[in-house]
Amino acid sequence: MSDCIFCKIINGEIPADKLYEDDRVIAFRDIHPQAPVHFLVVPKKHIPATTEITPENSGEVAYVFEIIAKLAKQEHLDGGFRVVNNCGENAGQTVPHLHFHVLAGKVMGETIV
Ligand code: 5GP
Ligand code: ZN
Repeated sequence: MSDCIFCKIINGEIPADKLYEDDRVIAFRDIHPQAPVHFLVVPKKHIPATTEITPENSGEVAYVFEIIAKLAKQEHLDGGFRVVNNCGENAGQTVPHLHFHVLAGKVMGETIV
């Protein structure tokens, strides 16, 4: 997707503070962090949102969670962390390329799960 900001990060057109990259997934720090640790884990395949996950592409999503487990160890998120996916307008999704927020480094409030 030529006008997708995360595809541009994946293609190297826009710089990002990367924590991890392989041929299927990229992880980089959020530009507007909402916790002491806040990074995004993104499948390289342009899946617009959670509503577009299908039997054909769900392997990419499973793989994202493998990488989240790996990064939790790499980044020493031993106190725990929260994974957030926003899907659609009411949830506040602003980038239409599937991504998972990983938030850590503080005690999370009990509101919103
Ligand atoms: P959403 O609101 O769609 O769930 O999350 C999109 C996230 O992407 C936001 O937290 C926003 O700060 C982050 N973001 C948007 N543009 C960029 C960018 O160019 N670079 C980085 N590193 N993060 C971005
Ligand atoms: Zn994209």
